[in-house]
Amino acid sequence: MSHHPSEQPADAVARLRATFATGRTKPLSWRTQQLHAVRSLLTERGDELAAALDTDLGKNRDEAYRTEIDFVVREIDHTLENLAEWLRPQPAEVPERLSPATAHTVLDPLGVVLVIAPWNYPLQLLLAPVVGALAAGNCVVAKPSEMAPATSKTVADLLPVYLDTDAVVVVEGGVPETTELLAQRFDHIFYTGNGTVGRVVMQAAAEHLTPVTLELGGKSPAFVDRGTDLAVVAARLASTKFMNAGQTCVAPDYVLTDPETARELEKALAEAVHGLYGDDPATSPSYGRIINTRHFDRLTGLLDSGRTVVGGAHDRARRYVAPTVLAEVAPDSPVMREEIFGPILPVVEVAGLDEAIAFINDRDKPLALYAFTESDTTRERLTRETSSGGLAFGLPVAHLTVSDLPFGGVGESGTGNYHGRYSLATFSHLKAVLDKPLG
Ligand code: NAD
Repeated sequence: MSHHPSEQPADAVARLRATFATGRTKPLSWRTQQLHAVRSLLTERGDELAAALDTDLGKNRDEAYRTEIDFVVREIDHTLENLAEWLRPQPAEVPERLSPATAHTVLDPLGVVLVIAPWNYPLQLLLAPVVGALAAGNCVVAKPSEMAPATSKTVADLLPVYLDTDAVVVVEGGVPETTELLAQRFDHIFYTGNGTVGRVVMQAAAEHLTPVTLELGGKSPAFVDRGTDLAVVAARLASTKFMNAGQTCVAPDYVLTDPETARELEKALAEAVHGLYGDDPATSPSYGRIINTRHFDRLTGLLDSGRTVVGGAHDRARRYVAPTVLAEVAPDSPVMREEIFGPILPVVEVAGLDEAIAFINDRDKPLALYAFTESDTTRERLTRETSSGGLAFGLPVAHLTVSDLPFGGVGESGTGNYHGRYSLATFSHLKAVLDKPLG
């Protein structure tokens, strides 16, 4: 059975609610069985999923496995390995005046949860939250992004083949279908995407007092300190920025560095891009495409925001925008006014660390902050004096592959977090239990 095309969102939610009420999803055995089922889906049908990701985003096979399919497999393995331990009741200290008594906390499943995913990592960003929701013993409605239609369809076809169809439903569709879903009462809504829709989700959730996790985006800065090895810095910046053609929520959005370092870094970035994608990135099998022409037009409108160091070429028919580095970019230029979400890397010059910190703190709190430095003082100051969802020194993006770290934003970049034990916390209620003997 799959999600019947005739089944209305209200009926699907009612059906899952009935399943949850039986208690079937609560035992550890059901949860681990569902996690193994998602794992089998990913390992047995990986090539179909990779093909869909190629259709939607021109994602090469290696990247599809590394950043989506195997990413979720690792998340599942980490969860399977630790779930029993994470679920163990945690003792709490009881004040003397209540003695004799004991107290502890238990993690309760919430019930029926909604997961809404975006198009840029359309598999990972749907299934990683679903894994957390199942591990926590919930029923799930999963809504893939209509902007990645091949992946959406493949997931809608495959999930019912592997998972408990009375506990997990895929609802495909765009704004009308999602609006209809959001009118239902859920016990948690987990949304990944942009802040405008994040506000729509939070308002709909308020109607039912439903808690939300919002995984949003924004401009994630990368500070490059004086005296660092710029060949290494450029290689790491380029590989994480231009992966998925820059359409990564935690991609370094722009570089902050001093003018002297900027001149050297430009050259190193041009070399790094060449090393990754050759003379003509348009012919490189490892370089992706822009999701649609609307985003293509938006991105090409940003190419004049600075001096082109490398790239700049584009082809609308193929939704191709070359990996581009822009130098001497003014802080108020178009490319600096919104999240870029594409393969354009502006270099903005600041006098040094003080000005970089002021620049960061003048703007919305980013999803990630990156810094390349050899200085412990710089490390400490950035940690203490700035606020961001995550902070990574020496290597962008990789913090989100550490399952034992929470992944999420703060302020405009989101609220709440997930991965590993943090997913379990997100999709559970931490219940307080006190036990006072009658005798
Ligand atoms: P998107 O357009 O696919 O939208 C995300 C989801 O919202 C989709 O499922 C879509 O159907 C739904 N949606 C769209 N409009 C809606 C409406 N009016 N009402 C209800 N639902 C609606 O993806 P996007 O928002 O373009 O994704 C890009 C943004 O997401 C970027 O800002 C990026 O930084 C952010 N992002 C964040 C993370 C993260 O983990 N924090 C990950 C990826 C992307």
